[in-house]
Amino acid sequence: MPSSFRTVTVLGAGVLGAQIAFQTANHGFPVTVYDVDDAALTIARGRFDAIVGQYTREVGDPEGAARRAVDGIRFVSDIAEAVRDTDLVIEAVPENLELKRSVYASIASAAPETTVFATNSSTLLPSAIADATGRPDRFLALHFANHIWAQNTAEVMGTPRTDPEVVERVVAFAEEIGMVPIRLKKEQPGYVLNSLLVPFLNAAADLLVRDVADPETIDATWRIATGAPLGPFQIYDVIGLRTPYAIASASAAAGDTRAGAFAEYLKREYLDQGKLGRESGEGFYRYR
Ligand code: NAD
Repeated sequence: MPSSFRTVTVLGAGVLGAQIAFQTANHGFPVTVYDVDDAALTIARGRFDAIVGQYTREVGDPEGAARRAVDGIRFVSDIAEAVRDTDLVIEAVPENLELKRSVYASIASAAPETTVFATNSSTLLPSAIADATGRPDRFLALHFANHIWAQNTAEVMGTPRTDPEVVERVVAFAEEIGMVPIRLKKEQPGYVLNSLLVPFLNAAADLLVRDVADPETIDATWRIATGAPLGPFQIYDVIGLRTPYAIASASAAAGDTRAGAFAEYLKREYLDQGKLGRESGEGFYRYR
């Protein structure tokens, strides 16, 4: 079954919103991008240029199709105008429940009745947002990963109130834009990916801060014994060490002493030395 979406609007042109808009436009959909004001849209244009550069280096773009796709994106700072004539809204505004609810409240009556709304939220459950959308049967989560054209999972997670046909259309849309759809049968904080990854990374951090083994040994154990290409500390380097530091610090503030030990270790051994992971050339490992 095709999605039958003809036009797509992305709300919020930050790190993920820009990647989602790029991936969608690069698969032939007319895309409108909304951000709060002209200054934010100017920053967003720079972000799209960077994405085309990175995509061209990694994938190649001999015919210039990626550049043309971005040039065809419509940039709008009036939210009602952005959703007026669109079939699918993908929301990627900052991860804050009240902010997201207020954004949905402002588009609930501006978008056509039939428009489907999807949130890219990483940590909020869609059922916490659904009533603000004015259309809980046409609302669900569609969660992309950073580096969208390469790490191309799209987790599709409805609420108990989402119409099953809407779930099917969004699964079809994910395929139409080159993603591998991951269908969740019920709501789950962290979806499938982070439900697996976060405990795995925490277990590795625990082995490290209790001085059971060093990162190289822990990674080698995982790679050799399971055939996985990367061990947990290699994955930390890909994520970038600021995010695990922020998460560990928050857990420490909530009373988790092991997370506190990991946060201190990351700060002392890595962040304070400018070692931020792969992006900075060094984290647990050195990169050329
Ligand atoms: P970001 O801070 O890079 O971008 C947010 C964008 O939203 C900015 O351009 C900002 O100007 C805009 N914005 C702020 N207020 C707005 C409003 N009221 N209406 C519309 N736009 C507004 O954030 P991000 O990392 O792109 O994250 C966005 C969402 O995507 C979050 O829900 C996050 O959980 C999710 N997500 C992020 C990642 C990631 O790796 N960064 C991965 C998966 C999902």
